[in-house]
Amino acid sequence: MKVKIFPVNPFQMNSYVYYCENTGEGMIIDPGFYTKYEQDDLIGFLNSHKIRIKYIVNTHGHIDHVLGNAFAVEQFRVPNYIHRDDLFLYERAEHQGLLYGIQVSKMPPVSDFINENNTFRLGNNEIKVLHTPGHSPGGICLCDRAEKVIFCGDLIFRLSIGRTDLPGGDYDTIINTIKEKIFGIFDDDYTLLPGHMESTTVGYERENNPFLR
Ligand SMILES: [Zn+2]
Repeated sequence: MKVKIFPVNPFQMNSYVYYCENTGEGMIIDPGFYTKYEQDDLIGFLNSHKIRIKYIVNTHGHIDHVLGNAFAVEQFRVPNYIHRDDLFLYERAEHQGLLYGIQVSKMPPVSDFINENNTFRLGNNEIKVLHTPGHSPGGICLCDRAEKVIFCGDLIFRLSIGRTDLPGGDYDTIINTIKEKIFGIFDDDYTLLPGHMESTTVGYERENNPFLR
């Protein structure tokens, strides 16, 4: 399995392509591709690596994570998923855009909702959904145990955590979620791939993250 990171849009959000290099099956996690340049960059990468996108998944409904949903659904014509508890954010993406002075294309309908323990398949790998509220009520992580990677959205960052001052965010919830659903379950050598900034590991954050002492 391979990971390609695209930091995109005015929020420098990490869009991920996660793919199986043997079968060419891939998924897009948080399509934030906003400009024509960013969209062409993605398509060029997929073509040159012969990757066929099977799924589009949003870790949550904040504008920076859904800015490219309309483009991606139109381009790849595959199902797109989000947790039901973030639908209220997803549906208000255009309104969120107004607050930041950003033009947002009309959100495509959600194909289906995802919840705890739902799985996606890419090649022989199984990618499992964890419901991880706190930054937003319907936040999720995607975990591939075989590869020891967790796509964690804006739940946790290197030496930081997701903000909790946006609608539906809650500080106690995010702390509990990280402790129970990340630190409580995964070994130190799991890689965390967040929605902003560089990747980190469960062990590094367990040891050093100032919010989680
Ligand atoms: Zn967010």
